[in-house]
Amino acid sequence: MKIAVYPGSFDPTTNGHLDIVKRSGLLFDKVIVAVLNNPNKKPLFSVEERVDILRRTCKDIENVEIDCFSGLLIDYAKSKNACAIVKGLRAVSDFEYELQMAHMNKKLNPDIETIFIMTNSRYSYLSSSLVKEVAQFGGCIKGLVPEIIEDEIYNRFMK
Ligand code: ADP
Repeated sequence: MKIAVYPGSFDPTTNGHLDIVKRSGLLFDKVIVAVLNNPNKKPLFSVEERVDILRRTCKDIENVEIDCFSGLLIDYAKSKNACAIVKGLRAVSDFEYELQMAHMNKKLNPDIETIFIMTNSRYSYLSSSLVKEVAQFGGCIKGLVPEIIEDEIYNRFMK
């Protein structure tokens, strides 16, 4: 069985992320969307909340599983018997860092490939941080994030 891990912060999940999840689900037998637990960052949504949001938005995709991890991604991928790490690429600015990461991960474990999926052009400008910036000042985020979290994102900034 070909298993891929799709890692990220997903704070919050955007429709750009979901597009990559769906498309990688067509390429692999199983895709594990893995939420990075990074204690150095102050997120808008806790890891548990982010996992829950992804579970709810991906519930109809049969071969997708949601999980979280901390520590080295490559070790997590190995522990899940994954043969690949999936990354989304939006622009050249993503590429330089991702290339460096891919080489490092290849050095750490040559058996696991990094696969890049080009963003859907509709979402090429979309990032979680930009969504947060727009929402913080009351801008419209409709169509950029799953409907079930639209209101909650605004609520977080009102507290
Ligand atoms: P971000 O805050 O940049 O959205 P994440 O760490 O949550 O970052 O992203 C996880 C993965 O999803 C990364 O591989 C990233 O390149 C990819 N990704 C993020 N947004 C998009 C998008 N709009 N289209 C395609 N891939 C994306």
